[in-house]
Amino acid sequence: MSELAARSLSGLKGVGPRGAERLAKLGLHNVEDLLFHLPFRYEDRTQIQPIGRLRPETHVVIEGEVLAADIVFGRRRSLLCKVGDGTGMVALRFFHFTAAQKNNLERGTQVRIYGEVRAGGTGLEFYHPEYEIANGGVLPPLDKRLTPVYPTTEGVHQKTLRNLMQQALALLERYPPRDLLPKALLDDASLPTLREALLKLHAPNPDDPVDMLLTGSHPAVQRLVMEEMVAHQLGMLSRRAGQKTHSAPVFTDDALVAKLRAGLPFQLTGAQQRVIQEIAADLAIPSPMLRLVQGDVGSGKTLVAAAAALMAIRAGYQVALMAPTELLAEQHLANFRHWLSPLGIDVHWLTGSLTPKARRDTQALLAGGEAAMVVGTHALFQDAVAFHRLGLTIIDEQHRFGVHQRLALREKGRQDTQIPHQLVLTATPIPRTLAMSLYGDLDTSVIDELPPGRQTIDTLALPASRRPAVIERVHAAAKQGTQAYWVCTLIEESDALQAQAAEATWASLKEALPDVDVELVHGRMKAKDKAARMARFASGEAQLLVATTVIEVGVDVPNATLMVMENAERLGLSQLHQLRGRVGRGGNKSYCVLLYQTPLSHTAKRRLAVMRETGDGFRIAEEDLRLRGPGEWLGTRQTGDLAFRIADLMRDEALMAPARDMAEQVLADHPASADALIHRWLKGAEGYADI
Ligand code: ADP
Ligand code: MG
Repeated sequence: MSELAARSLSGLKGVGPRGAERLAKLGLHNVEDLLFHLPFRYEDRTQIQPIGRLRPETHVVIEGEVLAADIVFGRRRSLLCKVGDGTGMVALRFFHFTAAQKNNLERGTQVRIYGEVRAGGTGLEFYHPEYEIANGGVLPPLDKRLTPVYPTTEGVHQKTLRNLMQQALALLERYPPRDLLPKALLDDASLPTLREALLKLHAPNPDDPVDMLLTGSHPAVQRLVMEEMVAHQLGMLSRRAGQKTHSAPVFTDDALVAKLRAGLPFQLTGAQQRVIQEIAADLAIPSPMLRLVQGDVGSGKTLVAAAAALMAIRAGYQVALMAPTELLAEQHLANFRHWLSPLGIDVHWLTGSLTPKARRDTQALLAGGEAAMVVGTHALFQDAVAFHRLGLTIIDEQHRFGVHQRLALREKGRQDTQIPHQLVLTATPIPRTLAMSLYGDLDTSVIDELPPGRQTIDTLALPASRRPAVIERVHAAAKQGTQAYWVCTLIEESDALQAQAAEATWASLKEALPDVDVELVHGRMKAKDKAARMARFASGEAQLLVATTVIEVGVDVPNATLMVMENAERLGLSQLHQLRGRVGRGGNKSYCVLLYQTPLSHTAKRRLAVMRETGDGFRIAEEDLRLRGPGEWLGTRQTGDLAFRIADLMRDEALMAPARDMAEQVLADHPASADALIHRWLKGAEGYADI
């Protein structure tokens, strides 16, 4: 272990138990942590400005003599202190001050001031500037380096942090850390050593390119980012290796898949066939599959999942499919029943809304092994649920689950070292950068082809004032024998408010469209009621479906050709894309109308523009990530998995691939360094996704 990591901060001068606690809040436990705590800005205190040349709103250093220091009683009592240097005079103003301060700033004292000059009541003034007082007539030497400004927390002052950092830098000089990235690789990438990088970042010279240090393009920053990314990659590779020590059941018999295909009224797309083959190849070897299937909305992921399920069921194993919402789970249930019943396979159902008895019944069938296929929600990974022989888990819209939830389900199939295969489906394509940092070398299949006859959807954005014209459009669609969705959004409000808003819209649309059958679904309805209403729309009995965003995922009515979203400016890009994907599923030209309230924020404008420009889910996801940043993009649950200290996934995207290569080389040639890197950056914390 490195000397720096071994030294706790309480060993530094000026850190008591309370101080150590506060530093711990910043994630700073030892000297090494402290050194990785980087400034977010620098101040130039290397040059003294003549007072006569000061301009307001600049940060400067001045030196001079105190000419007067008086307590003045204006609107607020303050200490006003005049300082002159022969070129001019300026005032310091303190609203909070101690008697000692006043005494120190006595007439005739030499002072050095650092702060921002502003135009004030007496001309140019500094408010509460930092200052130093001459000791025995002499001021300490002027800084030669730029002054770092660090992120702080309550009770930890900037000055304290700077002081501790000085001590840490001295220790860095005394005990230079071993470079865990091989010298040859660093040289190839023109990156400095760890020691050089840290010195540069904490104490740059006045002529160093500060912009590059702050925007991350400077080699000193890239050196640290690289090391952190390499450590994350190594963490994932090591988990992956751990995963390889697990075994998994082997499924090779595809007789049921052939039957399923024979019964379909359509051909599988080339992409579906390819992905099914990729999955079959994974299932044919006795090590656990972990495969992510990405495919745009409507690309036919469910069918691919059904094929995988049939491989497992044929071999006598059980399959669990978990979806994040009840509605989506219901949709899967309907599809699976439709496809599997003709093959003689019952599909079971497990969600939180089941009666206790129904739930116990399903649980008994799963534990006893009579149930081969179960579809459900979060209820599936609860403690009470046990499987007889779980061989495959399928998780839809994985980003809505936490990693631990997926693993909890996987654990239900563990038998000694054998664990189930895992298949993850997502319609929210994960941009490459994120996929790599979240999953390392998780295997990925992409369904990059839509079933034939799918339409591009014409999208337009209209201000809410155009509502009447949009209603007319709904009317026209209904008259042509096609159907429409009208989605009411009221995000971040309660379910109850959402339901109310949808009901009000439903009532007003019914009134405006007396000859159209208008149906309503929202999240507050009983599952049965909701299903019955959905069925009326699916069968074409109802022509217009007013809904909350509950219909976001999974709902499939090919005859629907018009999607209207109210308050579209409130929705994120991926949600807009998901909702739009409800139309364009049949043979007819489809349209999406985004109604928005004015004025639009800059981001909302950008989102609507992206929606008009493209229907490509991958591009939309990239834009979404750009607009929102990875933390928010993934939702709070996943943010912990992205806990980088220094790297910024968007900013440092270009380093991701080289870091991955470097990680592989480190692992192959310097396995001891690999362990040390993982320890340095990921110790204790689950800073990366468990596979
Ligand atoms: P998603 O990828 O969004 O989950 P689904 O699996 O729900 O897509 O499929 C959407 C619809 O397309 C379903 O009605 C499904 O039966 C249908 N479908 C799937 N594959 C094909 C295909 N190859 N040809 C025609 N329709 C298909
Ligand atoms: Mg789906």
